[in-house]
Amino acid sequence: MQPKLCKAGIQFREQVDDSFPDRSRVSDGWIGDTRHSARASDHNPDADGWVYAIDITADLGVESASFDLADQIRIVAKTDKRIKYVIHNGQIASSVLNYKWRKYTGINPHKKHIHISFTKLGTNDSAFFQIPMLGGKNGTSKSNVGILGKIIPSRRNRNLPGSRLGFGCNRECCTGGSSTDGSALA
Ligand SMILES: [Zn+2]
Repeated sequence: MQPKLCKAGIQFREQVDDSFPDRSRVSDGWIGDTRHSARASDHNPDADGWVYAIDITADLGVESASFDLADQIRIVAKTDKRIKYVIHNGQIASSVLNYKWRKYTGINPHKKHIHISFTKLGTNDSAFFQIPMLGGKNGTSKSNVGILGKIIPSRRNRNLPGSRLGFGCNRECCTGGSSTDGSALA
């Protein structure tokens, strides 16, 4: 079965590329390597070949933008059920605490990338993610206003070859992580 990234994952990465066209991609990834395949990971293809996780390099070209982005993903995940959980900078937000940040106890603290896992609802659903920093609606949070004005670039529709499938997740990321609720993660 040819591995394929879920449609929600493709859409998400395209929105990141559109909003941060000059971002680094050194820690990008989607499909797991052999170390991943030895353990439960959303980077491993399921029986039908679907991969339900992506890694986005934390260096978005704008200082500390990854922290703001991870937080916006966390907030949107409360209502967009295609997002299963997000991990960044030693913290994870999942349905366990209704997407409040909590300590991530996996081996890799995810400082160099943001890990996003998707649910089965994201298999074929490529609807636009309403994340303010990724071109989405500006929500109700006041804190988003300044962020929007500051970093959303105008070159929204630039098409980058880098946004296509092809990145392999071959770093120590996502290896052997486990959440505080005991389930294997990332
Ligand atoms: Zn990952």
